[in-house]
Amino acid sequence: MLGLMQQQSLLISSVIDFAERHHGDGEVVSRRVEGDIHRYTWADVARRARQVANAVEGQKLAHGDRVATLAWNGYRHLELYFGVSGSGRVLHTINPRLHPDQVAWIANHAEDQVLCFDMTFLPIVQAVHGKCTTVKQWVALCDADKLPADTGIPGLVSYESWMGTQSTSYTWPQIDENSACSLCYTSGTTGNPKGALYSHRSTILHAYGAALPDVMCMSARDSILPVVPMFHVNAWGIPYSAAMVGAKLVFPGPALDGKSVYELMEAEGVTFAAGVPTVWQMLLGHMKPTGLKFSKLNRTVIGGSACPPAMITAFREEYGVDVLHAWGMTELSPLGTLCTLKNKHLSLPEEAQMQLRMKQGRCIFGIDMKIVDAQGKALPHDGKAAGDLLVKGPWVIASYFKQEGGNPLVDGWFPTGDVATIDPDGFMQITDRSKDVIKSGGEWISSIDVENVAMAHPAVAMAACVGIFHPKWDERPIVCVVKKPGAEVTREELLAFYEGKTAKWQIPDDVVFVDAIPLGATGKMLKTKLREQLAAYKLPNL
Ligand code: ADP
Repeated sequence: MLGLMQQQSLLISSVIDFAERHHGDGEVVSRRVEGDIHRYTWADVARRARQVANAVEGQKLAHGDRVATLAWNGYRHLELYFGVSGSGRVLHTINPRLHPDQVAWIANHAEDQVLCFDMTFLPIVQAVHGKCTTVKQWVALCDADKLPADTGIPGLVSYESWMGTQSTSYTWPQIDENSACSLCYTSGTTGNPKGALYSHRSTILHAYGAALPDVMCMSARDSILPVVPMFHVNAWGIPYSAAMVGAKLVFPGPALDGKSVYELMEAEGVTFAAGVPTVWQMLLGHMKPTGLKFSKLNRTVIGGSACPPAMITAFREEYGVDVLHAWGMTELSPLGTLCTLKNKHLSLPEEAQMQLRMKQGRCIFGIDMKIVDAQGKALPHDGKAAGDLLVKGPWVIASYFKQEGGNPLVDGWFPTGDVATIDPDGFMQITDRSKDVIKSGGEWISSIDVENVAMAHPAVAMAACVGIFHPKWDERPIVCVVKKPGAEVTREELLAFYEGKTAKWQIPDDVVFVDAIPLGATGKMLKTKLREQLAAYKLPNL
């Protein structure tokens, strides 16, 4: 027997309609590329999203056609999120930190028809426009009078003249909720980038999940700063969740340095912020020497790579800010787990609570996960057994765009490439990327554990652990370290710092001081590159 409830598609257009009707005066504040602050409301976003939809219609695009962006977090990007997807087209967010050749490759692979870019990225567009064979309209995200005369890009128009003259009325099409709404390529540390093609349904279910109290707990009382980029996995879905709950949204634009982020947070009463560890490192690095404090911030979600325990402690103890450690992937829209304690944990001593907070957290309803051994046999959830992590759920990819790489699933489960433990309470802890695990004498050493100890040393700004070939043990860990400006620590002191904090055989064999650790396009350490840089390196005492 079927239930007798209304069938209503889960569509992104309904989210912006809702925000307009119920939170129309809620604010959206952006630092613009021009440097000034732009301020308007959810009602304005909705009105201008409809103008975007009309502009897209004017391009004669079919439903499903791709409109690309190369843009910072800002209000025009937000309008494109709702206007493009709402009109039945697919918003393809391109990561501007990629090499221009990769940008061109991705735009061609996605067959982008329109490409909208912030003026910061004009040089990239000038370098690639001749190679992007499918793009028929280039749009600069600026006012008409800010468009330079001789960019060399044929037919270039300003965003404001492209959409600003369009009608503000538009009837959103009632499309199938399984239609594609947005596309994001994974950074492709191996092989060519592959596209995760999200649907309206998957995006809305993810946005509901993300807003839950034990996830990001977003509400109409929040002022939310997504430092996580809108060009990578939709800023963790925050733009959609914020519209759903009517939160104030604050966008940092291109100014991601500690000072700018701090000032914006204070000026806009930010209660909740989201970012990768490297961003928070810059923020705390700015605040500590001058003794600055947050007046409104009460929690921050940190993910994308392992959050060093020292950062969790600093936020909690020095600034009274709760850190929610999160884990996810492009292929998961991206949220998989988030670390919030259960009631029974609240009476545990601080140290025991800290052990939990360091983990990547519990599954959000909608995501299921398991760990398996090399033969694919499920491992126990005892918090000790580490194995390959597999996930499934309605916001996990079933295959990549254009079926690149064939079927990625194993018996319906998506293999994440991460190695993890899961404890009896369901808290998952990433011990490594499967390709980064160090195999020493038949045992596994977690590169994350080695890095976390180094990061707890007051002189260390960043640490990356890699395995180096060893004739007896196969591999031994070494740790590459960037020192904090003005701080000093010797190799011997740092190695001694490991004593008592980790098993003896897990202590790295060497410390290599470097000026910088190579970072990828999403701010993560690029260990492949680091290994190349260490090609001539020899372990001591061999
Ligand atoms: P990429 O394109 O590099 O795969 P993603 O943003 O999809 O970019 O990265 C997903 C990967 O990032 C995960 O598989 C995991 O290895 C790593 N990751 C994400 N969050 C965390 C976290 N909190 N702790 C450790 N690793 C994380």
